[in-house]
Formats: sequence, C-alpha cells, structure tokens
Amino acid sequence: MAKIFHDEDADLALIQSKKVAIIGYGSQGHAHALNLRDSGVDVVVGLREGSSSVAKAQNAGLDVLPVAQAVASADVVMILTPDQVQRKVWADDIEPNLKPDAAIFFAHGFNIHFNYITPSEGHDVCMVAPKGPGHTVRRQYEEGKGVPCLACVAQDASGQAQALALSYAKAIGGTRAGTFETTFREETETDLFGEQAVLCGGVSQLIQYGFETLVEAGYQPEMAYFEVCHELKLIVDLINEGGLTKQRWSISDTAEYGDYVSGPRVITPDVKDHMKEVLADIQSGQFAKRFIADQDEGAPEFLKMREEHQNHPIEKTGQGIRSLFAWNSADDDYTEGEAARS
Ligand code: NAD
Ligand code: MG
Repeated sequence: MAKIFHDEDADLALIQSKKVAIIGYGSQGHAHALNLRDSGVDVVVGLREGSSSVAKAQNAGLDVLPVAQAVASADVVMILTPDQVQRKVWADDIEPNLKPDAAIFFAHGFNIHFNYITPSEGHDVCMVAPKGPGHTVRRQYEEGKGVPCLACVAQDASGQAQALALSYAKAIGGTRAGTFETTFREETETDLFGEQAVLCGGVSQLIQYGFETLVEAGYQPEMAYFEVCHELKLIVDLINEGGLTKQRWSISDTAEYGDYVSGPRVITPDVKDHMKEVLADIQSGQFAKRFIADQDEGAPEFLKMREEHQNHPIEKTGQGIRSLFAWNSADDDYTEGEAARS
C-alpha cells in the first residue's frame, strides 16, 4: 500500500521560508506559481525573453525574470517547461546559475530517471507531480480543494528533502486530497504507460475505430460522434466517482450485459500482450530515446502524426457538434480548431 500524506503531515512554513522559482508558465507552471503565491510563498516565474507567457504571468500579479536570473535568486527551482526542452534549459540557464544548496523540483520524473539531467551532489532533487492537468490544479485550489499529488526524493542533500517536497505539495493543494509516496522510477514508468496504453493512446484509438466502424457501416457521422465520443465523459465521470461498478450500476441492464459480452471481444487478451510490449519499451528507455531523438531533429515524426490525427474525420464532425454547446469548454488558452500548442 502506498503511503499517503495529508495536510497535517506537512509544514507549510518550510516552503514559506524559501524563494521559489517556477520555470515555465504553461499548464502546470501557472497553477503552481499562483497556488504557491496564494499560500504565502515568495514566487518568481522564470521565462525566456520574448515569451508570450510573460504578459500572462505579469497580469496575474507575478514577478517575472529571465530564467537565469530567476534561478540565481531561488532556493527552490521547479522545472515546468516541456519535458523535451528541460535538458537544454537546464544546461544553458539553470545549472550555471543555481545557488550551491538550491533544491531542484520536477513534476514528472522523465529527465532525472532517464539521466538527461544529473544535478550535482549538493542539491536536493524532488518531485511533486499533481495527478491532473494544471488548469484543474488551479481550479480545485481556488475552490478550497486539491488534486492528489505524487511526491518523492531522488537526492537528499539537505536531510530534509522529503519535508520540503511535502511542504511544496501542501502549498499547491496536494495534501488536501492526499499526496502519495513514490519513486522517480515508478512515477516515470507508470505515468508513461498510463498515457500511452490507456488514457491517451488507448482511448484515442478506441474512439477512432468506433467512429470509423459506424460511419463505414453507413450511419451518420453525427450519430457516431455522440455514441463513441460525446458520451464518454458521462461514463468516465461515473467511473471516477465510483469505479467500474458505479458506472455499471448507472447504465441500463442492456448496456451492462453488452459490456460483459462484447468488451472482451473488442479488447482481446492479445491487447494485454501488446501493453506489456509498450511497458517494456518504456522500461528499457527505448521510448524516451525515440521521443528525444525526434525532438532533437525538430520533431518531424511528432508533427506529422499530430497533423494526421487532427485530420481524422471525427475531429471535423466533433467541432461542428460542440459549437452547438460551446459553454462546455472553458480553458481560455485553448481555441477549438487551433489545437497546435505554442
Ligand atoms: P506546457 O507545455 O503547458 O508549458 C511549458 C511552459 O514552458 C510554457 O510556458 C512555455 O512557454 C515554457 N517553455 C517552453 N520552452 C521553453 C524554454 N526553452 N525555456 C523556458 N521556458 C520554456 O507544459 P506542462 O504540460 O505544464 O508540463 C510541464 C511539466 O509538468 C512536464 O514535466 C510535465 O510532464 C509535467 N506534468 C504535466 C501535467 C499536465 O497535465 N500538463 C501533469 C503532471 C505533470
Ligand atoms: Mg500522467
């Protein structure tokens, strides 16, 4: 059983006594910076000069400095740039400017676990990884709630790295729901597996195949969209609230019976064998190597796949339907039809 830490296990005063630099102001960056500030922590945001996020962070009332200067001023440096650029930001602007005893924080273990970043011995190396998108991390905090977090320590130079990680987790709302103890290896491998096999890769492919099957059989694309995509959220909400059992309790007996007889016909045991192959590629570092090699070339494979998937017919059908109930989407930095992120 995982060890779980709550508000009473963490001392907020610890992180309040430090200057924290948040590097990057994207999904996680804005949420960490604002939650820390609202928890009484001294925060500076480190951004590239000319970054479009500078104005956003300043408008939110935050201090912004170039990455090198933000790092030089900080006791705790949380690195929240995209995983594939962390290695370069680290080498160019972070490592050369670190205070000798600064703690280095991550929200995902990728760069430490796969050895793309190796901090010298004097630094605490910690992870506080919210198990949710940054926009939820912010929204929940504002509502007095919090997204559960994972926390761990890869290097304990100060002797109090874990206490510092828990204090940070508390300041972003992570010990309200509970912060779970893990390791960099476990977080990195399970996170990559979950997103590849189930949450992102698995679900996306399942939706596309379901849509294709109905449309190829002559049904209207709008009906196909409703049945294999729109209703997914309603089902997932039930699973989130009470597991598969609550979901099956809420759906009709017809749907539940169909679940039992047809689920295993679609997701056959060889799917599990393929999942094991995906996990093996993650564990061996093969996936990380392929991802980073492509990114280092300017991401030709990644961008080609993104374009192919954006052009799948379900995307066009979905856009038309969702515009009928536009109140559904709420993120002010996401524009439908302009999915490519800056
Ligand atoms: P993001 O893409 O939303 O934001 C990245 C930020 O970094 C942007 O502000 C961007 O301007 C800035 N940036 C990009 N290149 C830069 C550079 N060269 N120098 C300085 N700044 C640069 O990223 P994200 O999704 O918030 O991910 C950040 C970290 O959080 C990653 O380690 C990720 O794995 C982890 N994480 C993300 C989520 C999530 O739901 N998004 C959840 C848990 C953990
Ligand atoms: Mg994840």
